[in-house]
Amino acid sequence: MSFVIEIENLTKIYGKFKALDAVSLNVKKGEIYGFLGLNGAGKTTTIKSMLGLIWPTSGIVTVNGKIITPKKQGPWEKVGCLVETANSYPELTVRENLEIFRRLRGLKRKAEPVMKIINKLKLTRYTEKKAGELSLGNLQRLGLAKAMMHKPEILILDEPANGLDPVGIVEIREILMELARNDNVTIFVSSHHLEEISKTADRIGIIHDGRLLKDVSSYELEKKIKKYLILKVNKKNNAVKILKKSGYEIISNKDDNSIIINGAKSTKIREEIVKLLVNMQTPPYEIKMVQEDLESYFLRIIK
Ligand code: ATP
Repeated sequence: MSFVIEIENLTKIYGKFKALDAVSLNVKKGEIYGFLGLNGAGKTTTIKSMLGLIWPTSGIVTVNGKIITPKKQGPWEKVGCLVETANSYPELTVRENLEIFRRLRGLKRKAEPVMKIINKLKLTRYTEKKAGELSLGNLQRLGLAKAMMHKPEILILDEPANGLDPVGIVEIREILMELARNDNVTIFVSSHHLEEISKTADRIGIIHDGRLLKDVSSYELEKKIKKYLILKVNKKNNAVKILKKSGYEIISNKDDNSIIINGAKSTKIREEIVKLLVNMQTPPYEIKMVQEDLESYFLRIIK
């Protein structure tokens, strides 16, 4: 199988600090690869290596069959990217910024109208607003517009959801998924938000302290992430006894009325738990599912 992005044993050492330690991963055509890690994990360093912005200490990055280094000409006409916070000319308007970018990319005015990408990224209201006056979220949208305007086959995005509000996060997620599904665009996207990325990505790599700890399909990851059922009941002690007797794993027993149960992933199990408690005259008055967050999942896999 040939991959669109191939990273082999990528290591980057700054002075004595190892920012990346033998990272290897592959991304297939049309796949959305979510690259997940906490602050300082090594996401931007990996992305900069993929774009030929830094020299790796060792290892090889190949994008679209071309080995990437700062000295070689990469397949940049096929790549759209957003690295760290989006760059723009603050004194120029959104439209002017994109117009400059269109010319730099050598795109014909008719072939790819600037207004089309402005509308797609919901920047229409801000068309004539100076980039320097945009909110962080809208600046990020402008960065994404630049990354997508030339209809690249590969998108490499460093935390595109940065600064976006919940509606913006959903909109960007939908745009990315549409590009991958409809246009077979290969997307490498970094994030520190597990829940968000698990909704978008087909495959997820988890990086921590420069090392790739996991490289799994989102389906596999979903199975590995713990989900807890939180119930509130009035007769808590009775309810705990009943649940334990039936073999359920109670993971916390705080002083309030809540009971936290591990392993109640399916609707069927949750129904069984509620039925059991109702039948024993200890009905829950509140029921909620929570998913473990990135930090606790990390702590678990690091251990
Ligand atoms: P964030 O989510 O905070 O942007 P990240 O996962 O993108 O984090 P990187 O920016 O790749 O992390 O940084 C990885 C590590 O390498 C960090 O500890 C960072 O301080 C260090 N680092 C990055 N660039 C340099 C540099 N030019 N010189 C020295 N250390 C660096």
